[in-house]
Amino acid sequence: MTASDTSSEGSNENSYTSTVSNIATAEWPTTIEPVIPVECPCREHKGRKLLDIEIPLSVEQTFKLLFTDNEWLNKFKESLKHSENKCTSWNEEENTGKKERVSIYTMELDKTFGPKSTKITETQTCSPITSYNDGYMVIKEATNEGIPYADSFSVECIYCVTKVSETK
Ligand SMILES: [Zn+2]
Repeated sequence: MTASDTSSEGSNENSYTSTVSNIATAEWPTTIEPVIPVECPCREHKGRKLLDIEIPLSVEQTFKLLFTDNEWLNKFKESLKHSENKCTSWNEEENTGKKERVSIYTMELDKTFGPKSTKITETQTCSPITSYNDGYMVIKEATNEGIPYADSFSVECIYCVTKVSETK
C-alpha cells in the first residue's frame, strides 16, 4: 500500500470501522444484565443467621411483601405481638438511591418480671446492590424504650435480598 493510494486507504478505514463496530456489538453488551445468582456485597454476615431461603418471588415482589404495608405482613406482626405500628413512607435519596424510613411499634414481652411491653423505634435503610433489579440490603436498627439498660444497646438486623434466577 502506498500513501497516495486513496482507494485502498479508504477501504482500510472501512474495515477498521467495521471491526470496531463488530467488537462493540459482539463483546460489549449494550445493556448490563446481572450475573445470576447475584451475590450480596457483605464480606461476612455477623451474628446469628436467622434465615437463608430461596423464595419464588422477584426481588421487587419480596420488597413489597416485607417492607410495605400489606395484609400478610400485618397478620405476621400481630403474631409477633407488635402493635400500634406507625411507619413513615420510604424516603429515597436522589443521588444514591438509598431509601430510609422509621417504624415505631410496641412489642409485648412474655416476662413474669419487669415491664410487660417495650416501645421500639426502628430505623430502616435500604440500599441497592448495583441496582434494585439485582437486589438490595435492608438494615434495621432498633432501639428499645422501657426496659432495663435500653439506652446502652441497639439491635441490628440485616436483610440481604438477591436475585437467584429470573423467577426467584
Ligand atoms: Zn449480605
